[in-house]
Amino acid sequence: MQKLIYLVVLILIFSLSGCGKKTITTSSEINAAYITSNASNYFSTTQKIVVEVYYEPGAEPFVGTRLNGHPYWEILEDNLKAIFKFRTNIPVIIVPKDQASMYTLPAQNKTTWTPDDIVALNQTYKQASPSATEAHFYIYFLKGNSSDSANVIAESINGTPVIGVFKSVITGSGSGIVQRYVEQSTIVHEMGHAIGFVNNGVPMKTPYQDTAHGNHSTNSNCVMYWQNEGQADLQNFVAHYISTGDNIMWGPEVMADAQAFSK
Ligand SMILES: [Zn+2]
Repeated sequence: MQKLIYLVVLILIFSLSGCGKKTITTSSEINAAYITSNASNYFSTTQKIVVEVYYEPGAEPFVGTRLNGHPYWEILEDNLKAIFKFRTNIPVIIVPKDQASMYTLPAQNKTTWTPDDIVALNQTYKQASPSATEAHFYIYFLKGNSSDSANVIAESINGTPVIGVFKSVITGSGSGIVQRYVEQSTIVHEMGHAIGFVNNGVPMKTPYQDTAHGNHSTNSNCVMYWQNEGQADLQNFVAHYISTGDNIMWGPEVMADAQAFSK
């Protein structure tokens, strides 16, 4: 049952998504800004991981608690804790849980966003810069859509710790709890790319990359799976899944890579 629920949730999520790592026009300024933001540091020198969340008015992240009384954003936190639990010195992980811990942006009034646009936004608004010991990830909740397609739910911008989330695609993905669950699962997925999965900086122990779909897993029970078909009313499945209290979405292949790469 657990596996079925994983699968139907993932089909829902990625039927909405053209997710993939997106590239930007590189510049010396951008390269210098993110030179320490790489998988080698995350799994060796990093002692603190800070997730910064930004939102445009009208694109606020979901906050509050799940049916089990735990915050929605604990899903991201628990998945980050799981991936870094193999480190000799386990890094401190800081994830905001409520809107007061997130940052409001001025309205950007854009209908589409290129990866360069999102990175430029971060150059303007980021609270703190990353270093080899303190990693920062920046998640932007935006109005408007990806310049690639109005179906793209979110994107991780390759070579940077910057993620864009297109909120209107999430709010179009069903009602209530479904949207909230889609949002957290999407963020875990995009953070997965930003951290270095699949084969995106963290080497694979065994081959499981779905090369036809870029840096995704061939394991349909893993949050890094990408399936481009299917959609149904899955609200009951999602509610059931959340009520089980099992948060960890990484497949065993991702976990094995994290363990092998950890110092
Ligand atoms: Zn992806």
